[in-house]
Amino acid sequence: MADQKPDFDIVIIGSGPAGLTAAIYATRGGAATALFGGVAPGGQLLQTMEIENFPGFIDPVAGADLMTRMIKQVTRLGAVVFQESITGADLSARPFRFKAGSGKEYTAGAVIIATGAQARWLGIPSEQKFTGKGVSGCATCDGFFFRGKEICVIGGGDSAAEDALFLTKFAAKVYLVHRRDKLRASFRLQEKLRANPKVEIIYDHIPEEFIGEARLAAVNLKNVRTGAVRRLEVTGAFIAIGHTPATEAFKGKLALDEAGYIVTDEKTAASVPGVFAAGDVMDTRYKQAVVAAGTGCKAAMEALLFLEENKN
Ligand code: NAP
Repeated sequence: MADQKPDFDIVIIGSGPAGLTAAIYATRGGAATALFGGVAPGGQLLQTMEIENFPGFIDPVAGADLMTRMIKQVTRLGAVVFQESITGADLSARPFRFKAGSGKEYTAGAVIIATGAQARWLGIPSEQKFTGKGVSGCATCDGFFFRGKEICVIGGGDSAAEDALFLTKFAAKVYLVHRRDKLRASFRLQEKLRANPKVEIIYDHIPEEFIGEARLAAVNLKNVRTGAVRRLEVTGAFIAIGHTPATEAFKGKLALDEAGYIVTDEKTAASVPGVFAAGDVMDTRYKQAVVAAGTGCKAAMEALLFLEENKN
């Protein structure tokens, strides 16, 4: 390690279950820990209505509640939580240097990247045109505006299924539009979808064009088998087609796989010594809150060990 004493032993970037669990273990391991959580700390779970697969909660817990508890926990344990993002990182020498959204710079002996993944968009031109005017990437945020309306959700995974179920609280009808003939969502969510009279699943279709004047009025759906196009009269369309890892800031600095996920070994170590990654940003398979928390724990334990072994 260079002579200069860093501002923090460990900097954690990201405030989902991975980053926050890493902060719990880092502070309890005696490390001076800073967590950069972005402007709204809590990560993707802030968008999740109900979680019933996180151990320890007998009844479903709202994602926002769970994250608030974790943030309070790490603050009590002594981590410094910054409500801002890291906008630049120099990982070429230790201590590592970080630039925060405020423009301030910080240094650290080790870093844990837990920046998660961002919601993906379809990428068709009319999608952008109607974003905020009927097309949305966040059911939890915008569902309320579609009381009594007919709407659709695009996607076939757990997120799309959860969004569709959530939206039935407001909408008169929710079409779930999936590009294949089988949903990817878990068995339990599929059961709930089928039991809900407001949900209709449309298989084998993809959105071709969003249509309307000032606001969305319909979606043209293309049958991927026959090529036929049908018009679905909906005033809302929620896109839930998965996520892309938030690794833009680390391109060229760390080994990433072809989809942009941070490549780590089984101990969460990234390609640069002293850099660790946890949660959805390195998890191409599970993407579960409890797994993210688990990798956050591993990353913090490995970072503590790294600092111990590289004192001088
Ligand atoms: P996901 O599992 O990757 O599912 C994405 C869905 O979108 C898939 O059905 C996919 O179709 C479809 N899709 C992808 N690109 C598309 C495109 N360009 N056009 C049309 N459809 C497209 O993503 P997710 O649902 O966000 O879930 C991510 C992870 O979080 C998963 O591991 C999931 O289990 C987990 N999760 C868990 C919960 C929970 O346990 N309560 C809630 C939310 C998420 P294909 O099926 O054909 O690939």
